[in-house]
This record gives sequence, structure tokens and C-alpha cells, in this order.
Amino acid sequence: MKILVANLGSTSLKWRLFDFSNNAERLLHKGGFERVTDYPKAIEDCMAELKSAKVITDENELSAVGFKTVIAKNVTGCVRLDEHVLQAMADYNGLAPAHNPPYITGIKLFAQRVPKVPLIGLFETAFHQFAAPAAVNYAVPETWRQIGVRRWGFHGASHKFIAERSAELLCRPDVAERARQLYVNNGATKISGAPLRVISCHLGGSSSVTGILNGASIGTSMGMSPQSGLPQNNRVGDLDAEALPYAVKTLGITIEEAQKQLTKQSGLLGLSGVSNDIRDITDAANKGNVSAKLALDVFVASTRHWIGGYFLELNGADAIAFTAGTGENSAELRAAICANLANLGIKLDADKNQSARATESIISAADSAVKIFVIPANEELVVAREARRFLETRKN
Ligand code: ADP
Repeated sequence: MKILVANLGSTSLKWRLFDFSNNAERLLHKGGFERVTDYPKAIEDCMAELKSAKVITDENELSAVGFKTVIAKNVTGCVRLDEHVLQAMADYNGLAPAHNPPYITGIKLFAQRVPKVPLIGLFETAFHQFAAPAAVNYAVPETWRQIGVRRWGFHGASHKFIAERSAELLCRPDVAERARQLYVNNGATKISGAPLRVISCHLGGSSSVTGILNGASIGTSMGMSPQSGLPQNNRVGDLDAEALPYAVKTLGITIEEAQKQLTKQSGLLGLSGVSNDIRDITDAANKGNVSAKLALDVFVASTRHWIGGYFLELNGADAIAFTAGTGENSAELRAAICANLANLGIKLDADKNQSARATESIISAADSAVKIFVIPANEELVVAREARRFLETRKN
């Protein structure tokens, strides 16, 4: 069974092709194009590359094309991307303006190009769908809640991979299995040991922290839109709701201009004034740039704030996992985030932390009660696995 996972940006197309034949999981091919101006051609070129690499001979050999879709109105989980779902995504374009429109366009183009191949979306909100009402409700009037104003949470594929992989690393196959079956049986898989508590830190271009109990999310730092939680690369992260009307009135700007500033000129870029990339900001901070140092400090404080919240909620933690571009690569930020937590049983091994770069590693000290992991993100594999399970369990 071959499943292509397509990652669609407004000007990029990246893909990975997985083969699940003979009960194995193999990555057959990966590739992509940046600065895409002609999307139908990019899809055509993707198919041509797969054929010239001899990983497929015909498009119809694909059992499915999977997509890491972001958010849709009243739809989550792993679903067939039909007209109804595309409309539900369009209904929430405003919540994910950088993601939903290119996905809708790209999915329609794939539907034209490979009409016989099922197109399946795993929504980024899916992993958080079983979080308790107390974790997802904002304290707003019922009329607001009725129109979907609540925490949805994102980065679901990444956090789900951490749920599965951390359980394996902690020698808990029962929890790994529960995490794997989550969207098939709504968490009904029984576990056989003590509760397993993991805090997953996806730190990258956009960042979120998720509390995971027995392989399922209990809550996450991102809220109704991917705009919230930790400071993002150029998006604001959490902000007092009153700041928006205050800035509009005081700065004499329109609400659209204020939204633009909050989504494009805020976050790490807004704070540092240097860049939206933690690598540049770290360089600048190391050279004495005070604003760059502030941006890093705010990022670290916010990450610790959310880790602390879930540490309490989970009654401790068996592991903290770092993933995504910054989480996997920045030993400095991991050290800052884990600093002075020995009283909570969280102790890094400085040497192991320093040498862990984008490879799976245990970076906690031998006497740390809480294991600290670096786990490279593998969101595409999660999408492919879920698409496969969807095909095998819910043939519709
Ligand atoms: P996302 O999918 O959320 O954009 P990625 O996993 O693609 O996240 O992460 C990309 C980000 O990772 C870049 O924007 C960069 O800031 C960060 N990054 C990559 N390498 C490093 C590094 N060595 N140190 C700090 N941050 C890094």
C-alpha cells in the first residue's frame, strides 16, 4: 500500500511517499518544490519525479494522498476530503489564513489530477479532540461558544507522533498502542500499567506545548487559531483580548492593519526586531543585542509556563520531549527551558544535551526523575499511518 503525503504551502509543494506493504513502513521517496507559481504543474512534476524515481509506475498505484489539514468547521479527525469537508475548511479560512486557502486549492487540484485516488486529511486539531471541557472552553458567553469560539489546538500530527514514540522509548507498548488507535476507537484501548505522563514541546517556526496522558492530549497551548500560545515566528502568541481594540484606537489603525501586525510583524520578529528565525535571534543575542535577548527570554518563559501548567495537571511527568526545528536543534534553548528545575526532578545532562542535534536522544541526567527526550518530528508518517488506518477500517 503506497500513500503519498503532500505538504501544501501557498508557494511550495513537498511530499513523502510511504509504502506499507508486508507490514513494514518504508519511506520510498521525498521531494519538493519552493517558489511554486504554477501549482497544477508542480503536481504534474511531483508525479513525474515519482515515476522517474521508479517508486510508482502509475498514479493509480497510490492507495491515497494524505494531507496534514489544519482546521475545519465541525470536522476533525482523519476524514475523506470531499466537497463538504472542503467547504468546512473554507468556513474557517479566517482562523488559518496562511494554511487553509492553499490546502483547499491544492486538494482540488489533486482531485482533478488523480480522480480515482482517495484524498484523506488528518486535521491538526484531531489530537486534541478528547481534551476535557475545562481545557478547551474559553470563559465567553454561550453565543460565542456556539459559533466555535474555543480552544481547538494544532500541531496534532507532531504531538501524536511524540505520544506514540515517547511511549515506546519509555517501554510502554500498551500506551503506544492506545495512541495509535486513538482516532479509530476514541481512546478505548486499555492500558495495563500506571498512567503515563508526557509533555510534548513542538518548538519550530510555530510552537506549541501539549500535555499527554496515556497517549492522548489533555490540552495544548494553542487555542482557537494557530495565532495563540507561545510567541510564534512572526505571530503574536497569547495576547490580552483588550490589547486589540486599545491598539486600534490608540495607534489609529484599522482592525485589518492591527491583525496584519499581529500575524506578520509580531512574535519573535516583533520582539527581536532582528528576524523571525531563532538561529538569527540567538546569534544577535550572543553579540549583545538586547531586543534579541528579550525575544529569547520571552520564548523560554512562555515555554516554561506551559510546561509548568501540564506538569501540575498531569501530577508530574514521566518525560518531556523536544521536537521540531528549534526543539531538535537548539541545545541552548533546551538548557534554558530546563534550567533550575531539579526540585521537580527535571535535570538535563549538559553534554548529552549539547551533542543532541536532530537525532533521537535521551538528554536527561542519569538521576533525573523525568526523562528528557529529543525526538525528530515525523508528522508525514503520522498522516500516512492514519490514512492507511482510515482505508483499512472505514472504507467509505
Ligand atoms: P514549523 O513546521 O513549525 O515551521 P520546523 O520544524 O520546520 O517548524 O522549524 C523551522 C524552524 O526551526 C526555523 O524557523 C528555525 O527558527 C528553527 N531552527 C532550525 N534550526 C535551528 C537551530 N539550530 N537553532 C534554533 N532554531 C532552529
